[in-house]
Amino acid sequence: MKQTAVIIGGGIGGLFTGAFLAKNGYSVTVLEKNSIIGGGLQCFHRKGKSFETGMHIMGGFGEGGTLHRICSYLGILHRLDIQHIPDSCMDEVYYRDTDERYRLGGGREGFTKSLCSYFPQESDNIRRYIDAIYRLSHEVPLFRLLPEPDSSTVHSDEFFMPVDEFIASYVTDRRLRDLLAYLSPLYGGHKGETPAYIHALINVLYINGSSRFIGGSQQLADALAEVITDGGGRVISGREVTAINVEKQMVTGVVTADGHTYTADRYISSVHPLEMLRIVTPGTFLKAFRNRMAEIPNSYSAFSLYIDLRPGCLPYIDHTCYEINSHDIWNQHTTDPSDWPAGFMYMTPPEPGQGEYASRMLVHCIMNFNDVRRWQDTTPGHRTPEYEAWKQEKTERVLDRLERIFPGFRSMTNSVYASSPLTIRDYYHTPEGSIFGFRKNCNNLMLTQIPVYTRVKNLLLTGQSINLHGICGVPLTAINTAEAILGKNRIINQINEIL
Ligand SMILES: Cc1cc2nc3c(=O)[nH]c(=O)nc-3n(C[C@H](O)[C@H](O)[C@H](O)COP(=O)(O)OP(=O)(O)OC[C@H]3O[C@@H](n4cnc5c(N)ncnc54)[C@H](O)[C@@H]3O)c2cc1C
Repeated sequence: MKQTAVIIGGGIGGLFTGAFLAKNGYSVTVLEKNSIIGGGLQCFHRKGKSFETGMHIMGGFGEGGTLHRICSYLGILHRLDIQHIPDSCMDEVYYRDTDERYRLGGGREGFTKSLCSYFPQESDNIRRYIDAIYRLSHEVPLFRLLPEPDSSTVHSDEFFMPVDEFIASYVTDRRLRDLLAYLSPLYGGHKGETPAYIHALINVLYINGSSRFIGGSQQLADALAEVITDGGGRVISGREVTAINVEKQMVTGVVTADGHTYTADRYISSVHPLEMLRIVTPGTFLKAFRNRMAEIPNSYSAFSLYIDLRPGCLPYIDHTCYEINSHDIWNQHTTDPSDWPAGFMYMTPPEPGQGEYASRMLVHCIMNFNDVRRWQDTTPGHRTPEYEAWKQEKTERVLDRLERIFPGFRSMTNSVYASSPLTIRDYYHTPEGSIFGFRKNCNNLMLTQIPVYTRVKNLLLTGQSINLHGICGVPLTAINTAEAILGKNRIINQINEIL
């Protein structure tokens, strides 16, 4: 008899964990509440075009990269249509107040050289800073798919230093300090709080090679689902789990909104921990644990535009662009609503056979949930006219900004769709529409370190709030979760043996 597992949530964490278990003989059932699987990988379709919801820039897909190796091991790499961003310019950062533009090269040497060309007086400091982020990334064996050592790793002092202090300890120019943090919206960075190692991992991940899906990120979700079904399992969409039934510290089954009950040997929750606590049998977890989960702040949210472009109007841009109002990256999420947006990221995702012109544009702006709190009791399809008017006003603001960059921009668009923190909250079931889940705080590490094990013997956790977020962090945590069932270093060793 095959061992069985039920996974709650069919996003990146649920699907990767399911695929690892399926590769190791488990019959896995994934239950996803949305009508399409994928979570952050899911694409939505409008008028014949598809738009990525939560996966636009990926790291680790270059030859030998973490995701490249994981997807090779799962046998799905050949199914993925991926475009690698040229090293000549990985990202373009523009500061509006000072009219400064930085085109940052990719690859360790390319990134270093481009920074040194803009700040020649800081060249030695830049090299020392780059050495430091690579050194910190080497303190995490899992990041390079190396087996976990038997003894616990002793980290350097810098590892848990607040990110802004870490950067300032290497470079002196204030503009350079700000520029080195330009990727902080990709990890929900907070001054004085986010540990330096998160900054290091995310930066090293992207510096080593950034990529995009050609034709959308749904392809990865579908490929992972196939690994699960090939192993005799099922991936079922439109099944919201409304109860995790626990008796004597063992899950006895999960119940979905439509009344189905699913049972298995093991259960894995890949949803936000507060969502898991909402649906688990009351009294299962100690009050101290529940209070601790409720106290952890979540990362900020986002307002996004999904733009359908008219053919032959806007040239395709093969890298990501960041437009920032001023050298004040750490305060973007606290900007006064009247000054919003303090900055934004925009990109043109590639199509199969991508030609000279872009067909779509995605724009993401950091937004605080407070901006939509007055409509927090509304649900999708039942928002108020005031909310729709507010959303339109925010959309126009972003379009005004795009008009400055691309004169006549509005005339290049067919349709513009917008999502707010409420959309993210209701779509992913994350508190206050948090993009990356629980925030990591170097001043209170114990608070945010959540193990994959729970006091319920057959219930494990995975997903972005348990460890790192995003296309690299979530699959790595999925390895931890699957290995908690299969045995320490089992998957890591398999990956290294096979490749
Ligand atoms: C706007 C935006 C842009 C982003 N851009 C990037 C990017 O470019 N690169 C990058 O690396 N990361 C990006 N991220 C982050 C990335 O999407 C997340 O880190 C990742 O999706 C988290 O994976 P997860 O499995 O923890 O959660 P999810 O992928 O959200 O999966 C959780 C799943 O559980 C489901 N669920 C919730 N409750 C229930 C329930 N009760 N029953 C059944 N199912 C349930 C949800 O519907 C969801 O599908 C972005 C995020 C957002 C919001």
